[in-house]
Amino acid sequence: MPIANHKSTIPTPFTFSQSSLQDYADCPRRFQLRYIEELAWPAVETEPALENERHQQEGLFFHRLVQQRLVGLPVEKLGRMANSPNLSQWWQNFVDFRGLEDFGSLYPEMTLFSPLGGHRLMAKYDLIAATPGEKAVIFDWKTYQKRPKDEWMAARLQTRVYRALLVRAGAHLNSGQAFQPEQVEMIYWYANYPQEPSRFPYTAAQYKRDWDTLTRLVAEILAQRDFPLTGDEKKCACCPYRSYCNRGVEAGTMDGMAETDLMTLDVNLEQIQEIEF
Ligand code: SF4
Repeated sequence: MPIANHKSTIPTPFTFSQSSLQDYADCPRRFQLRYIEELAWPAVETEPALENERHQQEGLFFHRLVQQRLVGLPVEKLGRMANSPNLSQWWQNFVDFRGLEDFGSLYPEMTLFSPLGGHRLMAKYDLIAATPGEKAVIFDWKTYQKRPKDEWMAARLQTRVYRALLVRAGAHLNSGQAFQPEQVEMIYWYANYPQEPSRFPYTAAQYKRDWDTLTRLVAEILAQRDFPLTGDEKKCACCPYRSYCNRGVEAGTMDGMAETDLMTLDVNLEQIQEIEF
């Protein structure tokens, strides 16, 4: 399907995020279609579509329950809203989770920004738990059905953007002093695997590498004139833009998804609409 009124230049100023950068890393054309052309998603991502949609909605609702708990709503009241088998299990696992008691302050749904390449970089965190002068731990709640490998999570742009941006732009959470990379850690907590979180401490060398990578990636995107289709056609099976790219009509199935495709079903704060209680 041809793109009508092809734009091809990035809006200015543009707010980059881990999602848009990951889209670019996965497929430059997907970045173009989603963020420059701003095309609606014309195809379902996976089959069965309803099951996928229900899982995403449950993930969104779980994030909202946790956020409400972190701002002080009672466990009992929130627990009554966890009214599906998945939600009930995830919620119970979260209630049993111990790991937030030792921090001076909890900042649920915190957003940080930094200038980057003439534009800006943004991250919306599920939770930053901080003790000024000591440490800051980023928590990210994941509702994946399968637990991804740590090596794979380490390479995700989310892991790199979130830690680097906290060092870069989190001084106000540390009495005005930037956190040192060694004071920062990122933890992915898996609602289906509560005893097996992924933990990623940080170092000054990793921070430098990450910021250099992000700077280079943004410069590359800004210089692009022709956003190529990915050479890895497996990525197309679960991509909603298949019809624009002549990369198939049928959606992939969740059962058949590779670990690397799981994240197309990810739930993150950039997608969450307000869910009223
Ligand atoms: S269908 Fe494939 S080539 Fe087209 S945007 Fe999606 S991942 Fe990229």
